[in-house]
This record gives sequence, C-alpha cells and structure tokens, in this order.
Amino acid sequence: AKLKGRNQYVFFESLQETNKSTNIKLEYDFEHAIKNQEFIGRYQPLIGFDSDEVEGAEVLVRWQHPKLGLLQPDTFIPILEKSGQIVQLDLYMLKLAISNLNLWTDWLPDKFKLNVNVSTAGFASKEFITYLQEQHLKSAEITSRLCVEITEESLILNVDAVKKHLEILKSLNILVALDDFGTGYSSLSYLHQFSLDYLKIDKSFVDDLNEVNNKVLILDAVVNLAKALKIKTTAEGIETVEQYQKLKEIGCDVGQGYHISKPLLDTDFKCFIFHRGNP
Ligand code: C2E
Ligand code: CA
Ligand code: CA
Ligand code: CA
Repeated sequence: AKLKGRNQYVFFESLQETNKSTNIKLEYDFEHAIKNQEFIGRYQPLIGFDSDEVEGAEVLVRWQHPKLGLLQPDTFIPILEKSGQIVQLDLYMLKLAISNLNLWTDWLPDKFKLNVNVSTAGFASKEFITYLQEQHLKSAEITSRLCVEITEESLILNVDAVKKHLEILKSLNILVALDDFGTGYSSLSYLHQFSLDYLKIDKSFVDDLNEVNNKVLILDAVVNLAKALKIKTTAEGIETVEQYQKLKEIGCDVGQGYHISKPLLDTDFKCFIFHRGNP
C-alpha cells in the first residue's frame, strides 16, 4: 500500500508539473493570440418556448491555438481568470459580439439578443462598462441587442461596483442574465436587490428531468419565483424532446441546448436562422 501510495504521489506530482507548464505556456501565448485573432465565437441559438422562434444566441469562446488545436473554454478560462487576463478576453469577445451584430443586422430577427459571457473581474472592470457606454453613443440600436451574462459570484463579490454597473446597463437598455443559477451561492433572497432580466437555470437542474424526481418541483418553484419578480427564465442544457416539453409545461421562457442546436460557426448560425425563418 505504501509503494502504491508513493507511485500515486509521483504520478500526481508529474501531472501537476504538466499542468503547470501548459498553464505557463497558455498565459504566455495569450497576448499574441489576442493580436492574432485566435479567439473565435460559436453561437448557440436561444428559442422562445411560446413563440418557437429564435430569440437570441449565446456567444461561446473557442481558442484556435496554432499548436494545440481548437481549445474549449474549460481548458483556458480558469487559467486566464487566475492571471487576470480574462478581463482582456471578456472585452475582446464583447467587441466581437458588437461587430457581428453590425454585420448581421440585415437578417437578424427583430427581437434577437446576443448574449455575451463576462467574468467576475471583467464585469467589475471599468474598461468593460466604459466600452459599452461608448458603443451606446455610436449605436444605441446595436447595444440594445446585447444581453450580458454574469454569475452569482459577480453579485456577491464587489457588490458596490456591480450595483453601479447594473444601473448603467439598465440606462443603456442592455439586458442582464444571471448565469448558472442554482450552482453557486443560490441565495434567493438577493434576487430582488438587483435588476436582472433573465435567470439562466443551470444544466444540472435540467438533467434527468424526464424522470420523476424533485427537480420538477425545484424548477417549478424557481420559475414561479422569477415570474413574481418579473424575471424571465432560460433553461440551459436541454438535450431531449422530453426535457423540452417539460420545461415548456413548467412555464420557462427560453430554451437552450443540443436538442435545439449545438453552438455553431457563424456561417452555420446564419443558415440556422434562415431555415427556421423559412421552413
Ligand atoms: P456556460 O456559460 O454555462 O455555457 C454553457 C455551456 O454548456 C457551453 O459550454 C455550451 O457549449 C454547453 N452546452 C450548451 N448546451 C448543451 C447541452 O445540451 N448539453 C451539454 N452537455 N452542454 C451544453 P462551453 O462552450 O464549453 O463553455 C463553457 C463555459 O465557459 C461557459 O459556461 C462559460 O462559463 C465559459 N465561457 C464561454 N465563453 C466565454 C466567454 O466568452 N467569456 C467568459 N468569461 N466565459 C466564457
Ligand atoms: Ca453563459
Ligand atoms: Ca450557463
Ligand atoms: Ca453552466
């Protein structure tokens, strides 16, 4: 057992070392990656349960790394959060979103919103909010198509900055969604303190929804609480038709997940919009 333990220890050490060296590499590659436009967006459609129409999309970042290939956010976001570089990435993705809204303006549905993820540090930063204020002056129509997705962590840390920034977004007519609802602090008591437009119910509540269990009760309670607070609900991670129907029944407003569509390349996303519009 002792030998096994030691082997495991050695294995653990070398794993740590590997991780450490990739971390250093990714952080080092970041500046160049931004300049070289290696970060790209995938667009996952958001469907209104009542309208059955595309009401928006969420931009999800990918890193097209020249040596490591296409990297998923889980492999680099935690590293960039630690190094502080996430603030720069958030701003980059916001700029990308706005530039696409400008490019797509001719064919986007009227009430279409583009959801952008922002980290806790990014949302508390001056740059992010200042950029939105500048863009609002350029085109209020474009910025009013934005929805910023923040997490519960953002609300808890930096309460003062967050309250101020949420007020600014409201004045700019930019929507705010609370992402991953139910996974973090999940204190329902603070919900009314902030002006939020959407609650995004985490995939973990949507998983196994087709089975008879307490998840339906929890979802029902969350959706009704949100309704009472005039907050809309989005369910993420919908993978089956059963989950889709159940969530519609519960009264959820918006659905997202592989059952509707995977995150798409911008060209495929355009096709998706056209096909849904003209079946
Ligand atoms: P998230 O914001 O909760 O995004 C939803 C994640 O669930 C995405 O993973 C999406 O591809 C995945 N997903 C959507 N529908 C389904 C489904 O039906 N089944 C399953 N199994 N998964 C589904 P992704 O793209 O890997 O992103 C992971 C996380 O990385 C995001 O979670 C978000 O927290 C973060 N992220 C992504 N893009 C950005 C960004 O531009 N900025 C920041 N700060 N974070 C980002
Ligand atoms: Ca999100
Ligand atoms: Ca989410
Ligand atoms: Ca999630």
